[in-house]
Order: sequence, then structure tokens, then C-alpha cells
Amino acid sequence: MSNPNKTVSASLDVDKIRQDFPMLSKRINGKPLVYLDNGATTQKPLSVIKRMERFDTEEYATVRRGAYQLGEMATNTYEETRKKLARFLGVEDARQIIFTSGTTQSINLVAYSFGKKYIQSGDEVMISNMEHHANIIPWQTMCEERGATLKIIPINDAGELIMEDYDRLLSSKTKIVAITHVSNALGTINPVKEIVSKAHAVGAKVLLDGAQSTPHMKVDLQDIDCDFYAFSGHKIYGPSGIGVLYGKYELLKEMPPYVTGGEMINVVTLEKTTYAKPPARFEGGTPPITQVIGLGEAVDYLTNIGIEKIDAYERELLAYGTKVLSEIPGLRIIGTAKHKASIISFVLESVHPHDVITLLDQDLVAVRGGHHCAQPVMTRFCVPATTRASMSFYNKYEEIDALAAGIRKVQEVFA
Ligand code: PMP
Repeated sequence: MSNPNKTVSASLDVDKIRQDFPMLSKRINGKPLVYLDNGATTQKPLSVIKRMERFDTEEYATVRRGAYQLGEMATNTYEETRKKLARFLGVEDARQIIFTSGTTQSINLVAYSFGKKYIQSGDEVMISNMEHHANIIPWQTMCEERGATLKIIPINDAGELIMEDYDRLLSSKTKIVAITHVSNALGTINPVKEIVSKAHAVGAKVLLDGAQSTPHMKVDLQDIDCDFYAFSGHKIYGPSGIGVLYGKYELLKEMPPYVTGGEMINVVTLEKTTYAKPPARFEGGTPPITQVIGLGEAVDYLTNIGIEKIDAYERELLAYGTKVLSEIPGLRIIGTAKHKASIISFVLESVHPHDVITLLDQDLVAVRGGHHCAQPVMTRFCVPATTRASMSFYNKYEEIDALAAGIRKVQEVFA
């Protein structure tokens, strides 16, 4: 089967784009790689790989020590990248951009530091039933330590937040709401502006987990108005080991450090330390310098293609994938929200996702099977695991056809 509307996607030249990604031309035993695990991590364009190589071979020195020319130049490039990231997120003040190792560390930083400063016994923290473990466990731990209560916004059968319950659970006791912008397990795009404005109305702050939104859509933090936003470089075509935490400056400047040591200080005596202002306060130790530069290049790559075009094309892919997979008897899509990013989770009657992915892998179709670090989602839908195809703007309709054909083959094997 092939897409009858293929030409409507003319705004992106996918064949040309694919040539930018060395991994996408990989073949094993003559078979082409069908990479549909972009929710886990994305492939890198050559420009990102080359930029990091150039930095390491021609420009490398440590940053922020200000000792010699090379160091100053590296620091300059590092700080320019921070500005680039601020522009990418639609914010002006680059001091609000903190480089972390990824979404997980960004959320842990806020849970620990914001929690220490602002959460007391009897307070409440709110998350939802669709969070990644990275946006559950830090809050569980912090609530336990601070004597606070964790409240959970439930989700409906389509995998959408039940907003009436959100309204009901919000109160003056709520200190922070930590919600994913897009669910990695269901694909749901949450109504973040509404979530933020309602939280602010009761005096609560909001952290958004942007790990799955930044790859797919324009994120304008000035418009969304959340207090914190976290995402990972390796999911937006950049390197692993680097991520971002955005935080409103008036909050960051009051928050205690998360990691202490070199570079995050103002004055140190053997008795006492005073801390640097943000963002340095939250970047203790030598940062992943090359990865920061690589992330900047990834942002340039996405910006040059146009994130709106990416969004539009991925919506088409999602619609096509949803249609094609829905036509397979015995396949049930988990996560049918009205607003979705290009992620399709599904279960097959009588076949465990681990068997599905193993058989698909024989045809070099790479999808993920498991709980996707979102076990409470699996519990909610009464399934042990799902198979997840997560699509990027470099994926083609033919690859979705290959996935569908692979699934039919799996069904034949297990018939
Ligand atoms: N949140 C969501 C929604 C995710 O999809 C992921 C990665 N699967 C994370 C958080 C954690 O990201 P990382 O492992 O890059 O820290």
C-alpha cells in the first residue's frame, strides 16, 4: 500500500533530507534500515557530527576559565550557543538557559532545588498519569523528603488529561505542577497553555517536560509562560549527554545549587561559599563543551529546514500511519488523543511487543517495545507493554508501509 496523497508533502524534500543523515543509508545484509524509534533518540545530520569534529580538532579548550585566547574563543562559542537556545525557545534572556546532561537531570535539578527552597510539609505537587519515569520519581522522592503530597491528574481512555480533575485537584496548596508537553508513550499533546494559566491562578509554578515536544513543534516559552522547561539534545538531532533546563530568572536566582563544585561559585573560603548567579550556579564542573556546540548546530539544522514545515509533514505521516495501522485486524492503538505528535503505540492481539520487535528487527525495522519508562501508562491501559513507532520528518511513507507489512508478517507467524 502507498500513500495516495504523497505529493501534498512537497514542502519537504525528504529524499534530500535523508542524505544529510549518514545512519539512514545504513544497510545490514543488503536490507535498508527503517528507523522508527525517534522517540527514544534521533539520528544526527552530518552537519552536527562535522561541527563537533571541527570544534574538537580546531577550537577545543575549556570554557569560562578565561585564561588564554583559545579558551576565550571556546567560551564565546559556548555562550553564543546559549543565546541560540534561548532564541529557539522564544525567550530573550539567555541567563535562563542552563545546560544539563538531559531532561532527566533538568527535572531532578528543579525537584531538588525548587523543592528545597519552596516546598514545605503539607504542600502539594501535581503530576499526571502519563508521565515518563523521569517526571515521576524526582517528585516522589522530593515529596517524601519534604513531607509533601503528590497528586495525580488522571487520563481518559483516549490518553488525554482529564482537565475537570485537574481543576478539582488544583488548590492554594499546589506549589508546582510538572507535566509532559507530549507523552512519549501515547503521543498526546497536552493543553499546556491552559495548564499553566490555571496553575498560575492558584499561585503554583509549572514545569513542562519538553523531551517529546521540542523535536516536533515550535515551542514558544514566552507564549506558554511556564516556569521551567526541560528537554534533551539527543532527541532533537543533537548529541547525547547534553540537555537544557529553561527557568524563569526570578525563580532561578532564588534557588539553591543542585551540584556543587568548580565554576558555580562566587567566593570560596574553607569555612563558607557564596554562589554564582544563574546559569553558572547550576553548571558546576566542566560542562560537556563539545556536546553544547553540537546541540547548537542541531538547532541551526532544524531552524534551517523550518520547524513548522517539520510539524506539518509529521502530522501527515501520523495521519497516514494511523490509517494504515488501524486497518490491520487485531491491532489496537493505545493513545488516540485528538491532538497527537507523530508517535503511535499499539498492541497486537496475542503477541507480546517483545516478539513483535524481534520479528520486525529481522527486516531491519527498528521500533521500540516495552513500557517506554512510563509504567503507570501501561497500568492505566491494562497492558504489560506496547510497541511504539515514533516518526521523524526524515521518515518516508514507504517506511510506514514496511512497518505495516512487517506487522502482518508477525501475525502470520503467530497465527
Ligand atoms: N521525558 C520524556 C517524555 C521522555 O520521552 C524522555 C526520554 N525517553 C525523558 C523524559 C528522559 O530523557 P533523557 O533520557 O534524555 O534524560
